[in-house]
Amino acid sequence: MSLVNLLDFDLEAVAAFCAGLGEKRFRAVQLFRWIHQKGEADFERMTDLARALRDKLAGRCEVRPLPRISEHVSADGTVKWLFDVGAGNVVETVFIPEDDRGTLCISSQAGCAVGCRFCSTGHQGFSRNLSTGEILAQLWHAEHALRQRLNLAAGERAITNVVMMGMGEPLQNYAALVPALKVMLDDHGYGLSRRRVTVSTSGMARLIDRLRDDCPVALAVSLHAADDDLRDHLVPLNRKHPLDDLLHACRRYLDRAPRDFVTFEYCMLDGVNDSDAQARALVDLVNGRSPCTTPGLRIPCKINLIPFNPFPQSGLKRSPRERVQAFARILRDAGLVATIRKTRGDDIDAACGQLAGEVADRTNARERMQRRRAVIPLTPVASPVVSKPEVGA
Ligand code: SAH
Ligand code: SF4
Repeated sequence: MSLVNLLDFDLEAVAAFCAGLGEKRFRAVQLFRWIHQKGEADFERMTDLARALRDKLAGRCEVRPLPRISEHVSADGTVKWLFDVGAGNVVETVFIPEDDRGTLCISSQAGCAVGCRFCSTGHQGFSRNLSTGEILAQLWHAEHALRQRLNLAAGERAITNVVMMGMGEPLQNYAALVPALKVMLDDHGYGLSRRRVTVSTSGMARLIDRLRDDCPVALAVSLHAADDDLRDHLVPLNRKHPLDDLLHACRRYLDRAPRDFVTFEYCMLDGVNDSDAQARALVDLVNGRSPCTTPGLRIPCKINLIPFNPFPQSGLKRSPRERVQAFARILRDAGLVATIRKTRGDDIDAACGQLAGEVADRTNARERMQRRRAVIPLTPVASPVVSKPEVGA
């Protein structure tokens, strides 16, 4: 009989599991705190649990970490871990330290089925959803490894922010995502505020509504284009969830969101989506003046411009720095808040959209992508460029 993985459970599920063993809720809280606050996996070392309970736990459940393949530390303090999730699949987790916070970028799937044109995870195709335990094992490992590395005092936190911006589309793994978010937010778990946990999505409108109802946290939407034609090409699920649906879902989300804006991510692709006219179209889109959306549908937002991280099969190039700045200027002159994501971890390959290059390519997915490229001529198609990667906070 395989053991239950307690990392799969939020506090309510741990309480139900303990109730099944005849234990009171406060014992479940103790157990949950040992696991997530102290990083303890060994029941024997949970010294304030009664011996009888420790014995019951030992035969039935475990705290199952992900096998770690590697850890790379950048000169700027960025740390990248690769974890083995079986069957040749690898997922990546990245820690980005800044003066006032420490952000962990977590993966939600091995591969991704959305297949965005500019994303190497998308090019690899979809392998499988991670379980709640596998999502949380990344945080569990990172928090406790960092506490040791940084020599933090008991009670001090290494990770203050989580972004679901690693491999995968988190909302396509909704059932596993929500309990994981609950553990991140739980005061007996990681105690992170809703404003400091961000779900990034390529735009699944109906699931944005569900997230608002089930577990509203900060929302980032990967936009990348201000009209449906281009977005259909760059983010294929736009054909199912066009901009008008997406922006309506964003508007509804803001009614319950912990922040009063949505972050729009916009990956800057040379000659594809980075012209002055496209910047103005973006201004119109978020201000309810786009032909693609309902007139007057305005979305309070911040726009995060991400310089594209090239990878060999993309056929795309990063926008030149001056172009990114000119694009940002148009947004700012129109009164929008626009940031340009800065380079981090560039000596350890901790790149946004280039994650876990070691994951085996899935031939079918690659063929699919090639077919798609054959019918959608995006300009310009340059020879593959490999340059220094970046990672964002
Ligand atoms: N699937 C989710 C979250 C993971 S991707 C989403 O798409 O939002 C996290 C961010 O990295 C997204 O904004 C995505 O557009 C961006 N990204 C993907 N590939 C990239 C690349 N090659 N260069 C720069 N950013 C990239
Ligand atoms: Fe998937 Fe996000 Fe990459 Fe698109 S950008 S393929 S949704 S991980």
